[in-house]
Amino acid sequence: MVTIDEQAVAIQQLNSDWYHQKVSALDILRLDLIHPVISGNKWYKLKHNLMHAIHEGYKSILTFGGAHSNHLIATAAAAKQYGIAAKGIVRGEYHKENYSATLAACEDEGMELIFINKEEYSHKHEPTWLQKLEAQFDDTFIIPEGGANEWGREGAEEIAAFIPPAYTHVCVSVGTGTTFKGLRNGLADEQQLLGFVPMKQGVYLKEEIEGHIHPAKNKNWQLFDKWHFGGFGKWNDELLAFMNDCYNTNNLPLDIVYTSKMMYGVHEMITENYFPVSARILCIHTGGLQGNASVQERLSY
Ligand SMILES: *Cc1c(COP(=O)(O)O)cnc(C)c1O
Repeated sequence: MVTIDEQAVAIQQLNSDWYHQKVSALDILRLDLIHPVISGNKWYKLKHNLMHAIHEGYKSILTFGGAHSNHLIATAAAAKQYGIAAKGIVRGEYHKENYSATLAACEDEGMELIFINKEEYSHKHEPTWLQKLEAQFDDTFIIPEGGANEWGREGAEEIAAFIPPAYTHVCVSVGTGTTFKGLRNGLADEQQLLGFVPMKQGVYLKEEIEGHIHPAKNKNWQLFDKWHFGGFGKWNDELLAFMNDCYNTNNLPLDIVYTSKMMYGVHEMITENYFPVSARILCIHTGGLQGNASVQERLSY
């Protein structure tokens, strides 16, 4: 049985041939090494939610996600490992014949999938809708989509403990922003935190993010949404070529939805001299490699 292993987290130095005259260090924090599917940031966002549900004696946990959601499969696998039942509310109506690889994997992990249409799904943050949902199930603990609650942010804050103070800039990809918020709260004030949003016009997250950062920590952070490659889940040949190149030169596997777009952006910013030469950059590998199933035959790893 594969178990979650936080000791497996490591900092990897990237091949410096191309950047050594531009910045002083470019390394990556390999959170993806924790577990093949309970990977990266997902474990940190889940752990306190899961412990709370178990400690309080809930019969199951319930959460939300799309058909390719890294959060959904991470929740399914983590729940199985800790022996609590899991339910997943899926955005969109699917049947076994058209399950994504992620949905099939969720069921394999024992998660009960419940499909609702996109309109219905859009209510997922509304308290009255959530109360009705909760009432349908016996003693279930609801975790918001992406683990986006206080426990999720607290867990994400723990990631900062892996980051030595010598790094001047920390780069991370952003979905709900939960990981970003936790990191900003956990990093040293003077460390710059750069968030890369893989969806169009993603900087709309700025206000929402600001609301969850401790006032004293509300500085030295920025979001970039230039490298969305057409929008969330979209990609092109150039991104695939970049991923293969990154693997071939650094032995570094990236995922197609989040980390590849972040690394592409960091690469471009370094090339265009965005950073001072003294910059010591640490990128965070937030995992998500299970999401590469749909492009597997085009990847060299
Ligand atoms: C979910 C996910 C993110 C986004 O995390 P948030 O906390 O929702 O911002 C980033 N990278 C990967 C690989 C993910 O799976």
